[in-house]
Amino acid sequence: MPKDLFHEITSNYRMGITPYYFGLINQYDHTDPIYRQIVPSSEELNILPEELLDPIGDENPARGSRPLKALIHRYTNRVLLIPTAQCAVYCRFCFRKRLVGDTAHNAREEDLHAAYKYIRSHPEIEEVILTGGDPLTLGDQALLTILNELGSIQHLRVIRIHTRLPVVNPFRLTSELGEMIISSQKPIWVSAHFNHSAEITETARQHILNWISMGIPFLNQSVLLRGVNDSMKALKELFLSLIEIKVKPYYLHQADLVQGTSHLRVSQQRGLELLKELQGEVPGYALPHYVQDNSDGSGKIPLQNQWV
Ligand code: SF4
Repeated sequence: MPKDLFHEITSNYRMGITPYYFGLINQYDHTDPIYRQIVPSSEELNILPEELLDPIGDENPARGSRPLKALIHRYTNRVLLIPTAQCAVYCRFCFRKRLVGDTAHNAREEDLHAAYKYIRSHPEIEEVILTGGDPLTLGDQALLTILNELGSIQHLRVIRIHTRLPVVNPFRLTSELGEMIISSQKPIWVSAHFNHSAEITETARQHILNWISMGIPFLNQSVLLRGVNDSMKALKELFLSLIEIKVKPYYLHQADLVQGTSHLRVSQQRGLELLKELQGEVPGYALPHYVQDNSDGSGKIPLQNQWV
């Protein structure tokens, strides 16, 4: 790719790849499923009229679901807490492209305190989901402070951590961090983000199984992506490989209408066909919910075939 073009694309949306994840790419093959997820493409400059900067309505003022800088309150009994906007890698399809990697969107101490205060004053909130950015890019001490603050909130029942670190840098899943998580006053679920079975390496397997053996439960969310996992064979291999490492496939997301991502999107109709093909090919507990986020910020809707 010419240098100028590369600069134009990455000035719109930054590039970031961990050495470990880079090592998984077949560098001579631009159709490689990991390459497609992480290496900038000139197709990102093709912005369609229906594409949005905020495709899931995080900031929709009409819904007022972002009452604070570090907090999104979309469903009554759970909130998203965004302590950082930094990620270990910058996925080309990211639905929060508008903010990830921008330090201006990192929560300051006062933003976090305002979020804790909000959660304390809303007894209907039962679950906090740490997301971002990637919360596991924070240091152990910063994470411990957050977990202790949340742990002290009586009405909270559970904490979830959304992270791509098990995929792009599994070495972050240290035993020390695992101990810290398991010692939290609240049960903590980890939701990873594997999109292709090639990401489930022996290193990822060992680190995840170590945390699971310590008592940390894992889920996985995938995004349906063109040229990455949009075939029955690829999805079947992904979901079966996940249950082999004891990770429950939870969601398969219809890719959001993010600006400059049409080359990575698959139609809903194709998604439904794939789901139909998968029925009977994998056990029921390995089949995730196929969902789409509404663009107005009202949350997820299930995408389902009509069965009698
Ligand atoms: S790790 Fe998650 S938040 Fe970060 S760029 Fe990838 S999809 Fe977006």
